[in-house]
Amino acid sequence: MLEIDDLTVDYGSVRALDHVTLRAPLGSITTVLGANGAGKTTLLRAVSGLARPASGSISFAGHRIDRRRVEDIAGLGIAHLPSGQGVIVELTVAENLRLGSLISPKPPAGRKEDLDQVYDMFPVLSQRRRDVAASLSGGERQLLAIGTALMSRPRLILLDEPSLGLAPRAVAHIMAVLRRIHEDSGRTVLLVEQNARSALSIADRVVVLNLGRVVIDEDASALAADPRSMQRLRHAYLGF
Ligand code: ATP
Repeated sequence: MLEIDDLTVDYGSVRALDHVTLRAPLGSITTVLGANGAGKTTLLRAVSGLARPASGSISFAGHRIDRRRVEDIAGLGIAHLPSGQGVIVELTVAENLRLGSLISPKPPAGRKEDLDQVYDMFPVLSQRRRDVAASLSGGERQLLAIGTALMSRPRLILLDEPSLGLAPRAVAHIMAVLRRIHEDSGRTVLLVEQNARSALSIADRVVVLNLGRVVIDEDASALAADPRSMQRLRHAYLGF
């Protein structure tokens, strides 16, 4: 379980997160939605240790992590995929995946098995294992970034807008992949999205941020089925 309590993060005089409290239960997909500048990226950065809170706390699997170093947090099994990053374009697909295993707590013997699992899940990466990542399409790069994260055997995956800039078919594929990762391995996923429709289609829980504050925190299917909640979601995005 990821537990965030009363978390406030400032960038100088800008308050990016304002007393945020939320829970991402073990094995759930929680999506964090909100307009530009709502604080979504900052929330992920605070969990992975890249942004330091002014106050509040973050705990994962019983460990307090908000004052720990980035590498220690990664070592607890938290993988962070920042938006549009996570792949080294000069390296081949196989080299990128091998890099992902470097922070795995598993001994090297387990890495071949992990690699086979990633290739099994993403056949296109297996076909293109010797190609440099620069030659992949946007959707394939995103799959490689997710595959690389999986090589570190994360217990919690933080994904920042994996659908950004992708064609609708690629977005649908990424969402199906996330659902499968979650169903196959019970990994906990915290997914930041602008694309509310696709995120809602796979999420168990929805948190909506507006100007750094939590304005909705609900079960995803209940929210999608309730016109008043959907109205509140639109309001949080568009302000009317
Ligand atoms: P977007 O979808 O546009 O990335 P977001 O919901 O992810 O938005 P954040 O990037 O977390 O929002 O930004 C939250 C607030 O903090 C915004 O007002 C933003 O301008 C500000 N902010 C973010 N990063 C910095 C920074 N490095 N320095 C100063 N202000 C920042």
